[in-house]
Amino acid sequence: MNKIYNVGIIGGGVSGVVIALELAKYGVENILFEQENSVVNGPPFCHLHAGGNLYPDISEEQCRILMKQSIEMARLFPQSIDERPTFISIPKTEKYAVEDIESRLDMLVSYYKELIEEDPENQILGAPEQYYKIYKQADLDAIKDSPTVKRPQTADEWMSNAIKIVDYNKLKTPVILVQEYGWNLFRLAAQAQLALNASESCTLKTNTFVTDIKDVRDLNLDHNWEICTKDQVYKVNYLVNSSGFKTGTFDESLHLNSERLIEFKAAYVSKWHPIPGLIPELIFHGERGTPHGMAQLTPYCDEYYQIHGMTEDITLFENGLVQSKADTVQPEFNAGIKQKLERHWDTAEVKNRTENAIAFVGKFIPSFCSATVGGPPMYGAQQISGDDPSLRVGEVQFPSKSYARSEIIKASSALTVANQIINNMEEEGIISKLSNHTNNNVLLDRISTQDINILSEQLAVERGYPGALSKLVIEKD
Ligand SMILES: Cc1cc2nc3c(=O)[nH]c(=O)nc-3n(C[C@H](O)[C@H](O)[C@H](O)COP(=O)(O)OP(=O)(O)OC[C@H]3O[C@@H](n4cnc5c(N)ncnc54)[C@H](O)[C@@H]3O)c2cc1C
Repeated sequence: MNKIYNVGIIGGGVSGVVIALELAKYGVENILFEQENSVVNGPPFCHLHAGGNLYPDISEEQCRILMKQSIEMARLFPQSIDERPTFISIPKTEKYAVEDIESRLDMLVSYYKELIEEDPENQILGAPEQYYKIYKQADLDAIKDSPTVKRPQTADEWMSNAIKIVDYNKLKTPVILVQEYGWNLFRLAAQAQLALNASESCTLKTNTFVTDIKDVRDLNLDHNWEICTKDQVYKVNYLVNSSGFKTGTFDESLHLNSERLIEFKAAYVSKWHPIPGLIPELIFHGERGTPHGMAQLTPYCDEYYQIHGMTEDITLFENGLVQSKADTVQPEFNAGIKQKLERHWDTAEVKNRTENAIAFVGKFIPSFCSATVGGPPMYGAQQISGDDPSLRVGEVQFPSKSYARSEIIKASSALTVANQIINNMEEEGIISKLSNHTNNNVLLDRISTQDINILSEQLAVERGYPGALSKLVIEKD
């Protein structure tokens, strides 16, 4: 093959597709390789971390970054954002203090105001004054008997629906309602795939596994890298490694040293008939990795609910977190986890773990104990660069000339990383300086809601999940 692409991108997860679409928007020719038959097919996501409120232990700086990046991604993919709030609580048994969360929320409100001052279109989480609301015991008692609201509009309506099912005697008060929304991965995948297919500047190669990379920078050729697949070699000037938890594989073949952790996790799909009204996402904080780890209940359409429980018999796994070693930069999971990653889950384990998850949430929502298994788990492995497993904001590295390695931890970091890569390409002269930098992407904007509805449902079903998981609880106007 004689054609030379400006950029070759390995991995069509959220990071790879955003990089490809941002380059394509500026007319930069690129080629994107994804081993699966559709994009954004790796680890799941369901929560837009617009403030980091699911992580009481992270720094304020990480909370601010998560908020900024989440707003940017929500503006890029509005059709995948489910605008329902999140209920945050701390069980009486847990070490966290509500006061600490409150002071962090005040900091986030000020920061959100600053972001809106910079650009009014950043106001995607509602009015800053309503970013969060605190409910003391007396407030809860006062609203608990109000009628159930089918489609809540106000914070009080969301909260009164929530506390109809939550046993709040088990929780410290106050409890909090915050504007952290849901994030639908099937809808994001559909919008990205449709935009990539329509783009003239990106060649999307699905079902294409990259077997090797060759560094030809010193050979005085008219390209820098060769990307090898089973039957072809593709020439590119700039290489982006966005292969998710596999990024170390390519560092190894390029003899580059790097440190990383990779972690396998799963969430569970359940079916449940709660009250006849919508509920927020429900969070019960607890120390990760202990039997009291956080419980998270995420509402989807048609009475489907997704559950995370940050304990080893639910979301986390024994030996599920592994680290690179001095001589192997790509960490390896054990055979049992590898088997799960290849979609070979034991039926009994799915039932067992989903039932554990249901019982775990049932401690705080007694009626949830009647929930049943609603589909296969949503699972995957994610990467964390360095050696700090509590890091929540990932980044991009430029380990050598014309090579970028994306290592995002949360899906929200994808646009920041894409912009950093574009800046690096400008600095290296791979592309000429762009005078029209913008965070809007016309290729994504052109995709219709109807097309997203159709493809996202198709993707959910094709991947073995109920089609309802592709719909938003709060439909767009
Ligand atoms: C259970 C769970 C829940 C999560 N929940 C959230 C959440 O609520 N919110 C949030 O923001 N984040 C969440 N995350 C994190 C989020 O899923 C990741 O941050 C994100 O998916 C990482 O995207 P990525 O593009 O870097 O990697 P990936 O999505 O892993 O993409 C990498 C792609 O590269 C492809 N690939 C790898 N090797 C090759 C090769 N050799 N050839 C061709 N293709 C290759 C893979 O098939 C894959 O599609 C969650 C993660 C897990 C595990």
